[in-house]
Amino acid sequence: QVRVRFAPSPTGPLHIGGVRTALFNYLFAKQNNGVFYVRIEDTDQNRFVPGAEAYILEALEWLGISPDETMGKNEKFGPYRQSERKALYQQYADQLIQTGWAYYAFDTAEELDELRKKAEEAGQTFIYNHSNREQLKTSLNLSKEEVDQLIASDVPYVIRFKTPVGETLLLNDLIRGDIKFETNLLDDKVLFKSDGMPTYHLANIVDDHLMETSHVIRGEEWLPSLPLHELLYKAFGWEAPKFAHLPLILKPVGNGKLSKRDGDKLGFPVFPLDWQDPISGEKSSGYREKGFYPETVLNFLALLGWNDGTDQEIFSLEELVAKFDLGRVHKAGAKFDPEKNKWFNQHYLKQQKDANLAQEFQVILKEKGIQAADSYVEQVVALIKERATFVSDFFELSDFFFQAPATYDPKALKNWKEDTAGLMQQVAQVIEGITSFESTVIEKEVKDWIHEQCIGMGKVMQPLRVCVVGELKGPDLFQIMELIGKAETLSRIKKAVN
Ligand code: GLU
Repeated sequence: QVRVRFAPSPTGPLHIGGVRTALFNYLFAKQNNGVFYVRIEDTDQNRFVPGAEAYILEALEWLGISPDETMGKNEKFGPYRQSERKALYQQYADQLIQTGWAYYAFDTAEELDELRKKAEEAGQTFIYNHSNREQLKTSLNLSKEEVDQLIASDVPYVIRFKTPVGETLLLNDLIRGDIKFETNLLDDKVLFKSDGMPTYHLANIVDDHLMETSHVIRGEEWLPSLPLHELLYKAFGWEAPKFAHLPLILKPVGNGKLSKRDGDKLGFPVFPLDWQDPISGEKSSGYREKGFYPETVLNFLALLGWNDGTDQEIFSLEELVAKFDLGRVHKAGAKFDPEKNKWFNQHYLKQQKDANLAQEFQVILKEKGIQAADSYVEQVVALIKERATFVSDFFELSDFFFQAPATYDPKALKNWKEDTAGLMQQVAQVIEGITSFESTVIEKEVKDWIHEQCIGMGKVMQPLRVCVVGELKGPDLFQIMELIGKAETLSRIKKAVN
């Protein structure tokens, strides 16, 4: 059975890159009738941020890609929070010591600094591995009695992986293909820390095994850890999952990884939801609060590093589940495009029901002290939504449906000629005479009159729009008139010519 996981560390809000990792795991699980689970990797106490775990789960929920298993939900292989699995990791670290795949290291931070400095002076970089093993204070060099003695007297130690010497590893990545790697380049990574906590590497492998993970789909930044992870599976005698490392998400301009800073600087979110750092109080804005739809975020994230081989750009979640193909994920980094993200939102906004959009818009109108009937707001929304990216654009696009123009756009007034006021008064009379005040009727009456007068369309229509709207914007003028009604239309024309 396919079992995949999203394994974030709760070190802050979930970056959009993390959301893409979660999404690709979700899609892969669903298309294989598998399980998508979330495991919280919180063994690094120093980087723990309160609220981050809840934020991550809320973000997945908002996007509609909630896990099948996680803390408090179908805990088949729980606990799903690594800090609650502490005892377990110790046992596995001990196992590697017993089988000779790991060793105790007693070097203090000062001793390691000293070694680093010495290497630097000799123009080298210090690597904690086979090339230095004689100099190091480890159970590889000390006698069993010495080691027991040190441990018994509470001297702090870590457990390190004993990387095999002189081997070439043949690794496979579902996106990158075969990768060769020399073990001599690896350092002997710490697996278990002096504070009694495992490191990411040990906990990650133990849990992926115990939770029966079939595929590890994660960001490219973890590719350098792949050799160690494969070696750890070998050391434990476990079958390794298959690996797929997703391409980096790049800044919109220039090169390099998209960062939180890029968003702040250029004014677009890089997080799914708003976030306030509990310690510094620093705020970061999210897609949800900016007015993006979850469908938008899912759609643009899916295309960061993947496409289905056609020009199709709009994909629903169901379609993604059907069409997503891990084998088609690109190796090259994918450029993040905030403008394109807005384009996706325009699309999804148009898909929303007018009644729902009207409800959202009512909240904004109420804040502005404007009272309007739901049915009226719904009709307004139907006329303007084509031009909006967010519901928050609505008022700007439709203020004239709710209030007469307070000022007139000076640019639009440039075409206001000597005879314009007179013409407007005559149009007002035509409008006055219309009994069934529907846009098609108004249009016919007004245009017939213009033809009869043998004057240019623009000479009447442009100023008329200025009278009603205040500027040369907005949807069809006759539809606007129908909606605001005859009395209001006339009052606006009169106000403008006076
Ligand atoms: N806890 C790691 C992270 O924060 C998980 C990496 C992995 O998926 O192996 O991204």
